[in-house]
Amino acid sequence: MDGALAFVISPIPLLKRPVKQSKSLHGNSVYIQLYTQRVFFPGVRNKSHIKKISPLNTFAQLDQFHEECGVVGIWGIESASKYAFYGLHALQHRGQEGAGIATVSDGKLHEYKNLGLVTEVFNEDILSELRGSAAIGHNRYSTSGEKNVRNVQPFTVELSGIQVSIAHNGNLTNANKLRRHLELRGSIFNTSSDTEVILHLMATSLLASSSFIGKNSYEPLIQRVSDALSRVEGAYSVLLLSPSCLVAVRDPLGFRPLVMGKMKNRMESIIFASETCVFDLIGAEFVREVDPGEMIVVSKDGLHSFFPFPSQRRKACIFEHIYFARPTSIVFGRSVYMSRFRFGEILAEKAPAEADIVIPVPESGIPAALGYSAASGIPYQPGIMRSHYVGRTFIQPTQDIRDLSVRLKLSAVRSIIANKRLVVVDDSIVRGTTSRKLVRMLRETGAKEVHVRIACPPIIGSCYYGVDTPNTKELISHNMNEEEIRQYIDADSLAFLPLDQLHHFLGEESSSFCDACFSGNYPIRPLPSEDTTQEDNIHPKVFQQ
Ligand code: SF4
Repeated sequence: MDGALAFVISPIPLLKRPVKQSKSLHGNSVYIQLYTQRVFFPGVRNKSHIKKISPLNTFAQLDQFHEECGVVGIWGIESASKYAFYGLHALQHRGQEGAGIATVSDGKLHEYKNLGLVTEVFNEDILSELRGSAAIGHNRYSTSGEKNVRNVQPFTVELSGIQVSIAHNGNLTNANKLRRHLELRGSIFNTSSDTEVILHLMATSLLASSSFIGKNSYEPLIQRVSDALSRVEGAYSVLLLSPSCLVAVRDPLGFRPLVMGKMKNRMESIIFASETCVFDLIGAEFVREVDPGEMIVVSKDGLHSFFPFPSQRRKACIFEHIYFARPTSIVFGRSVYMSRFRFGEILAEKAPAEADIVIPVPESGIPAALGYSAASGIPYQPGIMRSHYVGRTFIQPTQDIRDLSVRLKLSAVRSIIANKRLVVVDDSIVRGTTSRKLVRMLRETGAKEVHVRIACPPIIGSCYYGVDTPNTKELISHNMNEEEIRQYIDADSLAFLPLDQLHHFLGEESSSFCDACFSGNYPIRPLPSEDTTQEDNIHPKVFQQ
């Protein structure tokens, strides 16, 4: 068959890495079809559940890159929705705007989603209604699209009478162009999310004429998925659920993580997740990563692995190790905790300071501060405490409460800090506003000296691959050199993790990581968009390559 899938089948209990196949599906596919697809959202079933995002949600997140999204997929376990719920709970750090779960039972998809944290969206009754032994779940942080329950995933649609649900972590760099193209041809979008583009591409695929009743019930579906994803660019770790199968697929550059595991006492089970911390919580064991460009299909026929896209050199996001991922996770084959600890050790070697104590900016600065302390011999002290009870309502501060945004979340411990020379270790500086307020708070608490150490290189460019970043012009390292930043934040000294030391740490794998926000070497150039001026604001170093 022209464009046929080449694949390797293995029974589910034998979860060996399959032989790679790279035969393309798309040699003859041309986008011509005029088609409008009905898209519906059964999870939005009660408007009284819709909550407003309060200003403090944004306010309290301080000045950092923000997490992307988290996905989880469950196959072959009764009450799959409850496993998905706990999986999403473990991935809450990747998105706090909304959460959703879709399940399959009796040949139909069931879905529930809403704005809020996982524990706010779901309760026992809702999870009990989400019946079935297969599920996908999604935690949303809005990297693309407005904050609205309609943008909360999974998205469930009907394609030629078959329901499909999708959950996506990442960002498509050509989504706006594709969307305009689709709309010109009659597609009607229900959300402002780039993920919906994938569904419309599936609906309008030339392979749409394929019947869903085939030799394998999942084959027409994965042909549409492959066809759709061959047209998108950017970052995607995607899970799709249909009544016949669960599909996990990762973009050819492998920007965002996606791992596969199984329950220790249920050999027929399969779990997919953004991070291995999901496996730790639900008692599953890690099997392997979903490879960049790989599509894994799990059905009653077993586990099938496909490589439908041309192979490319991996470009995994190094920021997962700097800030996003949980320290307990193994991401891209490396311990997140040990990476951060080593970044601190390197900082101590390359940027020593005469100081009395090392303190972290909690919580992502803790492993690097421990590393700095271990390498320098300077005692570690938890001199800053983080409040976990920053509420959801925000009362505008009066002028005399300075730096409220920092003080609400971070408190200095006077008995540790007063009259001490501090090394303060943080994971990153984005706009610099939080660092400036933090240094001021530490000085007002009695610190004699404040030496700031940042466990990543200067951030000079925005991210286009699924990470919420400010406009490039707002990045302090885009506008100032290290000494100017030191003066701005009023530190006694300032040092970043040198980029060459980050490369040295990554060793032979260095070229398989994306470091574009530090280096300007963007693996995929984002398309100019009518909706954004980001490209005009990119650092001069960016796109030199
Ligand atoms: Fe990660 Fe930065 Fe690359 Fe974005 S640009 S994928 S945040 S390393």
